[in-house]
Amino acid sequence: MTAHVKSYYAATANKQDARPALSGTETADVCVIGAGFTGVNAALELAERGVSVIVLEAARVGFGASGRNGGQIVNGYSRDLDVIAARYGETAGRVIGGLANEGGDIIRARAAKYAIACDVREGMLITAFSARQMRGLEHHVSTWKGFGFDQFELLDKTGLAPHVTTERYVGGLLDKRGGHIHPLNLVQGEAAAFESLGGRIFEGSPVVSVDMENAVVRTASGEVRAKTVLVCGNAYLQSVLPALETRVMPVSTQVLATEPLGAEAERLLPSNVCVEDANYVLDYFRRTADGRILYGGGIVYGGTDPASIKAKILPHMLKTFPTLKDAQIDYAWSGNFALTLTRFPQIGKLAPRVYFSHGDSGHGVTTTHLLARLLAESVTGDNSRFDVFAGLPYFPFPGGKMFRVPMTVAGSWWYRLRDSMGV
Ligand SMILES: Cc1cc2nc3c(=O)[nH]c(=O)nc-3n(C[C@H](O)[C@H](O)[C@H](O)COP(=O)(O)OP(=O)(O)OC[C@H]3O[C@@H](n4cnc5c(N)ncnc54)[C@H](O)[C@@H]3O)c2cc1C
Repeated sequence: MTAHVKSYYAATANKQDARPALSGTETADVCVIGAGFTGVNAALELAERGVSVIVLEAARVGFGASGRNGGQIVNGYSRDLDVIAARYGETAGRVIGGLANEGGDIIRARAAKYAIACDVREGMLITAFSARQMRGLEHHVSTWKGFGFDQFELLDKTGLAPHVTTERYVGGLLDKRGGHIHPLNLVQGEAAAFESLGGRIFEGSPVVSVDMENAVVRTASGEVRAKTVLVCGNAYLQSVLPALETRVMPVSTQVLATEPLGAEAERLLPSNVCVEDANYVLDYFRRTADGRILYGGGIVYGGTDPASIKAKILPHMLKTFPTLKDAQIDYAWSGNFALTLTRFPQIGKLAPRVYFSHGDSGHGVTTTHLLARLLAESVTGDNSRFDVFAGLPYFPFPGGKMFRVPMTVAGSWWYRLRDSMGV
């Protein structure tokens, strides 16, 4: 069975035994493809509502982005809330904007309800390199205030000192409802909660085809006959469902974890909030529970790994924290998220009995939890919130499967240039 990527998370995961592969024919009300945050939480939400669910996972629970990300609880979406109404109308703006904190709330409620040991810490900081980025953060605060969300504190350079020890930034924005977690332990804890309610998970069970009309899901060694199928393979789904392929592009991002640093980690991030900067291609970092600095950044469109993860990310980390020049790097890994053209996640139906959810565009820790709930609501007959989200228009990547990578690279060049010039 394909193991978890070698990472800080896999090395410090709570013990969870491997599950058997699917063999023969099984039946359930719902079959979920993919055991990341989306699939596991949709399954858990359904099990809590008394629905019988089978989850099929190609590798291990949390093998994909969910078990190897930055662990940052970032509220909202990869675009700001005012973009929704401006592009997609008042109703979409009101409803979807109003859900911006729900994913983070679900995570905390779930960790508490099922006693999931996943190092939940409070507070998330967005840092600015320039006056332009500070104006963007001020705009963010006033936009969210319009939805009744008042969780922010704008900080000037001096105000950053209790949170992050570096000369790089001119100011920042503290989101008191943000935070961070050990994501692999969270998703594995959620999977265990699902199983405690009678749900079944088969690992090492890559789905090879879906009979859309009859809701039959097949692996090499078995099949699940269901009433409804939820496709939650996100950036790792590849070509199982061609209809989804041009809607998203896999993008890789890389992470390092230092050795445990003791007091130095506390000096660099005194308040233990997590941090991401305001650049288009951003750096993200935080302390781990055992006192390491976990530092991520960079992207590769198309989802391939760079030749050396350390060579790519270390210069970013040392620019922010020069005192770490002699720190040992214990772990370096890469993972794929799914980018959409609008940078809003997509949820919908491929056929009357087949749902999908994907495309969190780099900020999916909270939105996966939210969208999993909307999937479960729809499957059990309440479409009120699902329909609004599913109504967001979808645009295929220009250039199709063959040219979407070079065309997206060209498109993002302008944003990177602006960031590098600090304008
Ligand atoms: C390195 C990295 C850092 C990130 N940092 C952050 C962060 O700090 N904060 C944040 O908000 N977001 C972050 N993200 C994004 C976030 O992790 C993702 O948006 C989120 O985890 C997606 O969850 P998912 O369940 O939709 O997909 P995934 O977690 O990728 O799960 C999909 C699962 O489906 C399985 N699968 C695929 N195909 C099949 C098949 N045919 N049959 C069976 N199973 C299949 C895969 O094996 C996988 O386990 C990061 C992403 C990466 C890669």
